[in-house]
Amino acid sequence: MLELRKATPEERKIFYAEEWDKREIPDFILHTLSLREFGFDPDGSGPNQRYKQFTTPEQLADYLRRTAPYSVFSSVALYEDPSQRRGWLKAELAFDIDAKDLPIKPCSCTGGKVCERCLDEAKRVLMLISDVLSSNLGLRDQHFSYSGRGFHLRVLDEPVMRMEQNERTQLVAYVTGGVIPSDITLALGYSKVFREFAARTFERLDREKLGEVLTQRAVRKLIEKKDEVLGAIRNGRIEEIKNLGGRKSVEQLLGFLARLNSEFVDGKVTVDVKRILRLPSSLHSGVSMKCISIRNIEKFSLDEAVPKFVSERR
Ligand SMILES: [Zn+2]
Repeated sequence: MLELRKATPEERKIFYAEEWDKREIPDFILHTLSLREFGFDPDGSGPNQRYKQFTTPEQLADYLRRTAPYSVFSSVALYEDPSQRRGWLKAELAFDIDAKDLPIKPCSCTGGKVCERCLDEAKRVLMLISDVLSSNLGLRDQHFSYSGRGFHLRVLDEPVMRMEQNERTQLVAYVTGGVIPSDITLALGYSKVFREFAARTFERLDREKLGEVLTQRAVRKLIEKKDEVLGAIRNGRIEEIKNLGGRKSVEQLLGFLARLNSEFVDGKVTVDVKRILRLPSSLHSGVSMKCISIRNIEKFSLDEAVPKFVSERR
């Protein structure tokens, strides 16, 4: 069983003195280290030390050993002068999927807690998004990392690195099925990405969750005919659901599904071109796990992220 608890200041010191290794920083960060802004949370009060710049990995190593911070972050953006956050050059397109914030959970975790089941669900959503990015948009320069309570996906293809905020907003909505596509007006059915995510989300909804937006009568009908509704969403045959649940409840249902779809990802992270994200290789002290770069997301196991000071105590 996964035991997630806070690391003590002493454990942080041991981790940065004996275990942290600059070779665990992914190449795409290592090669642009001096162009990135670093941020630190010294003691768990929040990432309030920002505008830090390191010209070499050794400098960063010294700093980490000396301060043993609670959390370490680096920017998705590259700057001419990171220490002033000036001369923005470009920024990765980042997706942040936090198991603690999933809109529908496969477990009973509350209050910032995560477990193997919700982490696995976060991983599955991440893989679906990755697939949409590569098969629908041709974006293949993708890098995964485990962030402690969830996962990050960073996309480095040149065209997206230069995108501004409003383009990123549209992109994240498309990729997550987070808005009802406007192509319904052409009576051609919804885009495939939206249909697939909406169907997946609908499949996971129970009476109670549906009751948040629909009348009890509509909920009853939709649950009774769940398989038919699912098929209709998947195939974009919206008229069929209208016959089942009525026009008004269909609109409410689709709006609800779009909202839930969008909530699987923290959209604020994706659109923020100056965001800082946890540095792969660093310690997530809130859960005593290592943030690590993931080579093969399908085979990823949490065991890889357990720091020595935790495994040796078992
Ligand atoms: Zn959980």
